[in-house]
Amino acid sequence: MGVRAYNFNPGPAALPLEVLRQAQEELVEYQGLGMSLMEASHRAAKVQEINDEAQALLLELLGIKEGYHVLFMGGGASQQFAQIPMNFLTPEKTAAYAITGSFAEKAFEEASYYGKAAIVASSKEQGWSRIPGGNEYQLPADTAYVHICTNNTIEGSQYKDIPNVNAPLVADMSSDILGIQRDASKFDFIYAGAQKNLGPAGVTVVVAKDDFVAQGTKNIPVIFRYGTFLKNNSLYNTPPVQAIYMVNLVLKWVKANGGVAAMEAQNIKKADLLYNVVDASGGFYTTKIEKPYRSIMNVTWNMKDEETEKQFLKECKEQGFVGLAGHRSVGGMRASIYNAVPYEAVKAVADFMQDYQKRNG
Ligand SMILES: *Cc1c(COP(=O)(O)O)cnc(C)c1O
Repeated sequence: MGVRAYNFNPGPAALPLEVLRQAQEELVEYQGLGMSLMEASHRAAKVQEINDEAQALLLELLGIKEGYHVLFMGGGASQQFAQIPMNFLTPEKTAAYAITGSFAEKAFEEASYYGKAAIVASSKEQGWSRIPGGNEYQLPADTAYVHICTNNTIEGSQYKDIPNVNAPLVADMSSDILGIQRDASKFDFIYAGAQKNLGPAGVTVVVAKDDFVAQGTKNIPVIFRYGTFLKNNSLYNTPPVQAIYMVNLVLKWVKANGGVAAMEAQNIKKADLLYNVVDASGGFYTTKIEKPYRSIMNVTWNMKDEETEKQFLKECKEQGFVGLAGHRSVGGMRASIYNAVPYEAVKAVADFMQDYQKRNG
């Protein structure tokens, strides 16, 4: 095996080494099955065990006792942008969106293709630098649901408090599920593409209240109804078994390492390493995100001009740091420091940033 890089990719992102090693060990022949999971029937008992175990473990880690189910779906978080209004936005209602970054805005746009959608809070005018509080929301009387994106992966901002709203609350948690402690009972519907904090690409995780799913319209094709996935234990059609298996291993890893509370504590420590360097740099490094809303999953920062940033990123590459360039739509730098990114990796970047400033400041 070659040397594994310090991986700060935004998604697909770093996975725990222990998980990869176990997957390697079980790849060719899975626990007496006589074949790999990729070759097995999705109805095989061993496969169903993984499906059931992963669902139960995710609910446990989220602190959910009852009234919710986990669904494993395809199409990424982006498909959910469209599928949520398909199921829950009826012609007489309005879908309410808080837009706090470009993924949240995309979700709103998909809903507007489908029906009546309204922006009820926005930080676009402020360059996505903040998260509007729930008291700023202007909800229409016919609100079908309120949609938020709890962590803005591209911009580097994050909800620390979840707004209390008088309507079903739907959240895109793609980039911070299990990375920060949240009261899951506040949400009627949570979804996340797995490839940030939960596993590899190929499976999208939905955690939905049974009552809410039951309200979904029957007026759409069967394959798009959440009720179909709920009724069939995510086995209506062939699920991405290998990806679900990987998610299950990651969930076990999270549990073995102290659960969400421990993940959050470690993520705060990692994020502080970087924000402390930025704050102490006297403007050499800057961040656009106001302090209370700074993400502990994606840390973004800038330098005085693009040329300087390019030079910095070039040296980062030489150091073996991968994935530190900001999203192509915003530029600058971004360190994605999800659960699986070790403290040492983040410490190495923070040390390098200080050293770089000493040499160039
Ligand atoms: C990555 C990401 C998406 C898009 O996910 P896909 O699985 O690629 O569709 C949507 N929302 C958020 C918050 C993300 O981080």
